[in-house]
Amino acid sequence: MRYIMGQSRKYEFKWELLGDIEKGRPNLGNTTRLEIYRLMQYTLRDVLEQRYGDAEADKIFREAGRLSGREYYHHLLSGCTGMHDFIRKFQESLRELGIGILRVEEADELSGSFTLTVAEDLDCSGLPELNYPVCTFDEGFIRGILEEMTGSEYEVREVDCWCTGDRTCRFEANVRSS
Ligand SMILES: [Zn+2]
Repeated sequence: MRYIMGQSRKYEFKWELLGDIEKGRPNLGNTTRLEIYRLMQYTLRDVLEQRYGDAEADKIFREAGRLSGREYYHHLLSGCTGMHDFIRKFQESLRELGIGILRVEEADELSGSFTLTVAEDLDCSGLPELNYPVCTFDEGFIRGILEEMTGSEYEVREVDCWCTGDRTCRFEANVRSS
């Protein structure tokens, strides 16, 4: 099949790409070892950095995270009745899926600012200390979710990370000033 610009893309994301796991993995099921998820993530980062530089590699990860956040919101969190309901569902789903343990340290509903922490984070907990935060995908992921929830554009930055010696990841999320 040929893919022509503007008509069809080879890798456009659709939730269906996650597959029918019951059918596809009747014996192995829907779990794998976390090391293997990290093996894919950190080798992909290595190649992206070699090809595009570290800043661009981070940007690509943030963008992918943002796309995943939007999709995650629509498939797993939509229909929330308000901010409290949203936070509760967000926390429960992250725990249930083994992504991390979310706490909302600060939430200013008026300004839309949040400080969130994620403990036992999928991407970084247990990594060597590196003196810089690594959870760029999570920055985008949180951004995408908050944007879908609120309809505002967000800026999300990880300010503490397991990799900066903090043992929990901390994200500051603020509405972008236009
Ligand atoms: Zn982190």
